[in-house]
Formats: sequence, C-alpha cells, structure tokens
Amino acid sequence: MENCIFCKIIAGEIPSPRLYEDDQMIIIRDIEPKAKLHYLCLPKKHFAYLSDMDEERAEILKHCFQVIPTLQEQLGLQDGYRVVINQGANAGQTVFHLHIHLLGGEVLGDF
Ligand code: 5GP
Ligand code: ZN
Repeated sequence: MENCIFCKIIAGEIPSPRLYEDDQMIIIRDIEPKAKLHYLCLPKKHFAYLSDMDEERAEILKHCFQVIPTLQEQLGLQDGYRVVINQGANAGQTVFHLHIHLLGGEVLGDF
C-alpha cells in the first residue's frame, strides 16, 4: 500500500530493527513508547480495520496471536503485558495498517 509507513517498514524502505520476523508478521519497537516496553506486531499484508476481516486476514491474526505468547520471555513480557488494537478516530488510531500493540515491562496504569 502506497504511503503506508508500516508497509514501508515491512518492505525495508524505512529501517526499523525487527525483533521477530516470519512470513506473515514482524515485531518492532514503537518509536514513541507508551510503556517501558512497547512493541508493535505488524501483519505483513496491509489492511486497516478489524471490520475488513476475511478468512485470509483472520488466519493472519490467528497466527499473530499464536506467535506473540511464544515470544513473551524474549521480549521481556513474562510478567504480563497489555494487547491493544486501536480502531478509528475515537481510539486515536494514527496508522491505518492494522497492528497489535504489546505494552509491558512495568505495572501498567488503568485506562
Ligand atoms: P495507532 O495510534 O495507530 O494505534 O499506533 C501507531 C503507533 O505507531 C504509534 O504508537 C506510533 O508511535 C507508532 N509509529 C508511528 N510511526 C512509526 C515509525 O516510523 N516507526 C515505529 N517503530 N513506530 C511508529
Ligand atoms: Zn500498510
């Protein structure tokens, strides 16, 4: 997708160290961390919203949610973490390439 910053990161056009990568997703650090540890899981295929779901996208998200827990220790999230997917204006979504925030490394405040 043109002009999508996450597609550019996935394509390697914008450098961003990958903490994990497979054929369907990458995990990078958020550039403006909102917790001591703040990662983004980016599906490699561009879509913006959960409401764009289809079978293929559901399989991709299933894969992401199967892999994330296997990386808990490696990412320093073994004591717990928060999973966030912002959707639309009220949630403050700023990048319209669906992504999963992983927040942890400390006791997180209420929200
Ligand atoms: P959203 O608000 O759309 O759920 O989250 C977008 C996130 O992407 C924000 O937390 C923001 O800090 C992060 N972000 C935006 N641009 C970049 C970038 O170029 N590199 C990285 N690593 N994170 C980014
Ligand atoms: Zn994209």
